[in-house]
Amino acid sequence: MMKKYNFCAGPAPLSPEVYQKAAEALENFNDTGLSILEISHRSDAFLSILADCNKWVLELLSLENKGYQVLFLQGSASMEFARVPLNLLKTQAGYIDTGVWAQKAINEARKVGQVKIVASSEDKNYSYIPQGYHLPEQIDYLHCTSNNTIYGTQMNNFPDTNAPLVCDMSSDIFSRKLDFSQFGLIYAGAQKNISTSGLSVVIIHESLLSENVNIPNVLSYKQHFQHNGLYHTPPVFAVYLTWLNLQWLIQQGGVEAMEKINRQKAAMLYQEIDNNYLFFGTAQKQDRSLMNVCFRLVDENLSTQFDRFIESKNITGIQGHRYVGGYRVSLYNAVTLSDVEYLITCLKEFATEQS
Ligand code: PLP
Repeated sequence: MMKKYNFCAGPAPLSPEVYQKAAEALENFNDTGLSILEISHRSDAFLSILADCNKWVLELLSLENKGYQVLFLQGSASMEFARVPLNLLKTQAGYIDTGVWAQKAINEARKVGQVKIVASSEDKNYSYIPQGYHLPEQIDYLHCTSNNTIYGTQMNNFPDTNAPLVCDMSSDIFSRKLDFSQFGLIYAGAQKNISTSGLSVVIIHESLLSENVNIPNVLSYKQHFQHNGLYHTPPVFAVYLTWLNLQWLIQQGGVEAMEKINRQKAAMLYQEIDNNYLFFGTAQKQDRSLMNVCFRLVDENLSTQFDRFIESKNITGIQGHRYVGGYRVSLYNAVTLSDVEYLITCLKEFATEQS
């Protein structure tokens, strides 16, 4: 089969080595003669996978021995939009509005308590990250979105606040080094840099594991923690895929090594978008995302031709999000430098054809 160059924003590609091992485990997991799909989540084999995943997440984020717990939960980032306020919002929470995903989180929080929007970039179609805003004193937590998948903007620094900082890191976790200990809670839907969909990974500081008896157990972080992540059946296959992918990430040299490649990939592609007369980037330069490169055609009348050309080159997944249109190339960890080089060659070829 011809190689497909997949730049999808999510569910996103994982590395071929990970797929290979996952495929083997679907047939015969660890030489047990059983599929990974039919092993008990209470088996020693799965408990050991879960323990490794816990350990590796903390190691990769340099959060070992700092009082953090990792939960692998059924759900998605949208589930955490609701679970975060249900667990942490007592009176008022602050939210930074950087786009659709932040707004969805805000809407869920409003059902639980008061929400103060501390900053927003709505005035310019979320093309930038707000800076220099005032933070209210009395908030239970401050919520931000580190990478705005739809608009291709990314936070480079995070607010200095006394309140716990909660971050939706769905589309850039494990892609760059940060001081992760500045966050009280990090969550991520797994289908970009971690695993497949159906799983959310929550990294929570123990000080935030308080009990709210008014919420159902299945929504309580503390309940999940107290049951060692087995309050109910975790998504076994998605956790196994996490295990394979974290191992792959460690073999690549961890988050720091990954960041180096991610910076190279993004720099190359932005350079092409800036230099190619057919395209322009939509995010403000200082806030451009390393993970999602959003751009448009200068002449939108070329879109059908461009789409056909892209398809003929076996490139897929570059349509912009349906809310904003245009194009979006996602450069998650599994996308290689040579995949990006190929795409750039194609963009140049299209420009030559048009000239
Ligand atoms: N947050 C961010 C930053 C996202 O990119 C997405 C989806 O792409 C979500 C939240 C929502 O994820 P889910 O559809 O898994 O709930």
